[in-house]
Amino acid sequence: AAVWIKEGPAIGEMVAQWMTRGYPDVDLSEANVNRFYEYGTSRQWVKDRADELYQEIYGIIHPAEQWQSGRPIRTSAFYEQQDDLDARWFEAAGWERPQWFESNEDLLDVYADELEGLHRPNEWDSRWWSPIILAEHLHMRDHVGMVGDMGFGIFEFVGSDVVDYIERMAVGRCDVDVGKTVYTPILAENGGFVSDLTIARLGVVQSVTEEDMSHEAFAPYTAQEITVGETDAWAMRLSYVGELGWEIYAPMSKGRRLWETVAEAGADYDIRPVGMGVYGTTGRMEKGYRLFGHELEIDYTPAEAGLTFHGVKDADFVGKDAYAESIEADDAATLCTLSVADHAPEGGEPRFMLGNEPVMDTDGQVLVDEEGRRSYVTSAGTGPSVGKHLLMAYLPPDHAEEGNRLQVEYMGGRYPVEVEVVGSRPLFDPGNDRIRS
Ligand SMILES: Cc1cc2nc3c(=O)[nH]c(=O)nc-3n(C[C@H](O)[C@H](O)[C@H](O)COP(=O)(O)OP(=O)(O)OC[C@H]3O[C@@H](n4cnc5c(N)ncnc54)[C@H](O)[C@@H]3O)c2cc1C
Repeated sequence: AAVWIKEGPAIGEMVAQWMTRGYPDVDLSEANVNRFYEYGTSRQWVKDRADELYQEIYGIIHPAEQWQSGRPIRTSAFYEQQDDLDARWFEAAGWERPQWFESNEDLLDVYADELEGLHRPNEWDSRWWSPIILAEHLHMRDHVGMVGDMGFGIFEFVGSDVVDYIERMAVGRCDVDVGKTVYTPILAENGGFVSDLTIARLGVVQSVTEEDMSHEAFAPYTAQEITVGETDAWAMRLSYVGELGWEIYAPMSKGRRLWETVAEAGADYDIRPVGMGVYGTTGRMEKGYRLFGHELEIDYTPAEAGLTFHGVKDADFVGKDAYAESIEADDAATLCTLSVADHAPEGGEPRFMLGNEPVMDTDGQVLVDEEGRRSYVTSAGTGPSVGKHLLMAYLPPDHAEEGNRLQVEYMGGRYPVEVEVVGSRPLFDPGNDRIRS
């Protein structure tokens, strides 16, 4: 059943579409039954969450509010090590993930100048947040950061026709050499997003020189089997924060040792643990990286999201016709990066948007594209390296122009914003030199 009477008819229509043709017009991922993982199906867990929800249902819920019941339930092999560093825990798919580390508080002094103007004096704006996230970010850009993350689903495909199967799922061409990685949208038949993934073609690609992680031996966007200390692992050279970096995948049983090895090896380079606040918000927003469930939803296409770099491959795939058409057609909206031009236009306390706010023109009219979709802030977060509070939003063509001035409504106030980038060009390091260095 729908929650509340006014949602009932629309939810009924969307569910009927979903059941009869496989996808709804409006993204319902947040209501998809597949969001319930095995960890959340026990009678005890369901009862505790339901009790908590009952208390909260008429409450004012902060956008970053964290559930308290039934936690911690999924913890990584390096949970204790992160907890010793005074991690502030957020939950994703049941996993405990550090959002930031209080142990990095000393960095606030180091970066005091850069952080001026980026602190959030308002209690609501700064709830479930810390300026330490911004300091961790700046430290990572200047030195080295390590992120311990368990939130990603990992699917392993094995079999004789696996390449054909993956080709049919993905927009990007996946019949690539062993050791290559492919970042690709996954679409519904309507050409809208159902996911975005990095697919690595694994095989026997043991690095010839076992520990050679140099640019020549381990090129960007490739995967290799490596040994980190005593730990055998897969590494992919890619970065969601726009740095020279690797994602390292190792067995759970070796996680603790892996964390120690990386921390010890990084000590000479002043390595710091950084939280998901950097990984998921500050770092990615400066780079213009899109996030599923925020920018990437079934209502928008790769053309509108600026993710058509794969072109149209020969092989057939789900959503191909709609995707090819959307590349040819004029976009009804384009995903843009905006910055807040004035945090206190009427004086008083500077305010910082948190996401989902309406975007309006300078006359206060909400922007609506020709498909009836309203412009709103899909992601909000500070970009410490560019010294601005950044927003992403899909804008109709008339407004998707760099330098264009618009407004965002937040808590009854209106704040001037400026279009910084139309499309997916990164604000920080637009040439991606750091990733390729
Ligand atoms: C006490 C109470 C007070 C509420 N107050 C408000 C309020 O003030 N304002 C508000 O907006 N919302 C309120 N709600 C919530 C609102 O009533 C629901 O969100 C809304 O009615 C859901 O509509 P629906 O059509 O999705 O589902 P329902 O109205 O639950 O309709 C589902 C229908 O499916 C039928 N059904 C179930 N299984 C089968 C089956 N196997 N085969 C055939 N039929 C089946 C059921 O009998 C039912 O008729 C309240 C709810 C409750 C319980």
